[in-house]
Amino acid sequence: MYLTRLVYTSTISEVFSSNDIDNILATARENNEKNNVTGLLCFNRKYFLQCLEGSRRKVNETYHRILNDPRHSNIIMLDYCEIITREFNQWSMGYMPESSLTRPLNLKYSGNSDFSPYEMSGESAHQMMLSLKDSVPTIK
Ligand code: FAD
Repeated sequence: MYLTRLVYTSTISEVFSSNDIDNILATARENNEKNNVTGLLCFNRKYFLQCLEGSRRKVNETYHRILNDPRHSNIIMLDYCEIITREFNQWSMGYMPESSLTRPLNLKYSGNSDFSPYEMSGESAHQMMLSLKDSVPTIK
């Protein structure tokens, strides 16, 4: 089964409430564990940037569910490719909160000092998430 990586960005919708992030992470971790999907979710209370890794079928099924989720909108796929190895295999879904998305990091990977994933290329978004790897809390 091919390994693939998908990176997308999205914006919270009107129905999103602040404690939804805990529910999203709990569901993501439970489902991803079952489906051997791994990845990282960055969130600055407005935009999501997520990387999903796993078999082509499971990554696509997961992305289809995510696309139908009313808690976010303007969902744009930034990158989709076959990969040789996973890079976020420690986490069924690692989480990077706003405090980690610093001005120097944003400037390094986009034309903006704010977290602006819509203005990043797929490769910049991927590289940014890789650079955050060492600071992801170890839970799942
Ligand atoms: P069900 O649980 O049967 O729900 C039915 C519908 O209601 C779905 O459209 C669901 O999205 C929606 N829904 C569920 N809970 C709520 C709620 N509290 N408020 C409003 N609508 C709701 N899922 C994963 O499996 N893996 C991931 O990595 C993952 N990452 C996500 C990242 C983001 C940014 C978001 C917003 C969601 C993510 N999810 C992830 C959750 C995913 O969108 C689905 O909700 C989840 O997979 C369950 O899908 P389901 O079809 O079984 O929905």
